[in-house]
Amino acid sequence: MISTSRKSLPVYELEFLQKFSPDFEHAILTRHGGVSAGVFESLNVRFGIGDDDVNVQKNRVIVADAFRVPIVQLVSANQTHSDHVQVVDESLDFEEKVKDTFDDVDAFVCAVPNIACMIQVADCQAQVLYDPVHKVFGVVHAGWKGLVKDVTGATLKVMANKFGSIPGNIVAGIAPSLGPCCSYFSDPKNELPQNFHQFIDDKNRVDLWSFAIEQLKSHSVKIENIQLTKLCTQCKGDDFFSYRRSKGTTGRFGIMAMLH
Ligand SMILES: [Zn+2]
Repeated sequence: MISTSRKSLPVYELEFLQKFSPDFEHAILTRHGGVSAGVFESLNVRFGIGDDDVNVQKNRVIVADAFRVPIVQLVSANQTHSDHVQVVDESLDFEEKVKDTFDDVDAFVCAVPNIACMIQVADCQAQVLYDPVHKVFGVVHAGWKGLVKDVTGATLKVMANKFGSIPGNIVAGIAPSLGPCCSYFSDPKNELPQNFHQFIDDKNRVDLWSFAIEQLKSHSVKIENIQLTKLCTQCKGDDFFSYRRSKGTTGRFGIMAMLH
């Protein structure tokens, strides 16, 4: 993972995905560079979690500006831990946007240039999936509930069915998220299905990073095309919002993807 910036906004990029620039651009935002205060300090990009709407909107304008798109072309969703995948294309009415572009969506698939798709997280994984052959990307909100529902597989399926993507060509990046060091569950053997059980340790922690990699592999994404940042948001709360570290009330940082 490389520390860089968009205009003056600090961001991180993944080496595996950076090599497709300028055709494909991605970035992991941090909690820095915005205007929100208190537990939302400062670049909280999510509405409806206690932060002042005016500040969230200002933060989103900062993000859109850093990615050189009008605010209506910064696409987001009210995420609900579902496996619902939204294809983003020219049919979108960019003038209609109020707060989030979509409701009840947890992944975007996009093959259209100059639309910045943003996933919002604080401990959950965001996954960026790029097919350089067909020039289409998926960007996914995959917390443990999303991993259980296999939102990643649902996204790969849309990329395959609608755009002809072959998993063997896909490059996948997993953003900073809750690591195996901190992912305590109260009763994971009962809370999680059987296919998670091999990733539970003797302290009731679940290695969601390894699970996500195995899930990607099970969909025929090649291990050599998967980059895991190995950065735990709870341990690294100075740079990223962490739901668990903040015991619930905190902001969300953004993961961006866009074609040119
Ligand atoms: Zn940790």
